[in-house]
Amino acid sequence: MPDKTLFSKIIDGEIPGTFVYRDDRIVAIRDIAPQAPTHILIIPVKPISGIETAGPEDQALLGDLLLVGAKLARELGLEARGYRLVINAGEDAGQSVPHLHVHLLGGRAMSWPPG
Ligand code: AMP
Repeated sequence: MPDKTLFSKIIDGEIPGTFVYRDDRIVAIRDIAPQAPTHILIIPVKPISGIETAGPEDQALLGDLLLVGAKLARELGLEARGYRLVINAGEDAGQSVPHLHVHLLGGRAMSWPPG
């Protein structure tokens, strides 16, 4: 059995997290090191290591991660000014936690391309 991921430990209550959304398949927590006034991580309960290891069986789950992101953005008042939903995949993109997650970033203007 592989070691539990950091996010699985948060989901299971072994490490504290600030939850802003939770259902039986998806949670959303506040990022511990926010890169924008609003920085939330939308995480599947299923510990998929990254987008590259998601399979066809995860299709609905992947869609729902984005829909939860958009719903939270709406609820948090980010819709009018805009926001970003981001998945980092692998080393060059800066993925540091090997448990798939979507970043919801908003509350400030952001540049493109990302650094
Ligand atoms: P990534 O670099 O795309 O893998 O994103 C991982 C994110 O997890 C980073 O933005 C971290 O700040 C965040 N993070 C790391 N540890 C925690 C934690 N204990 N609670 C909440 N967010 C965390």
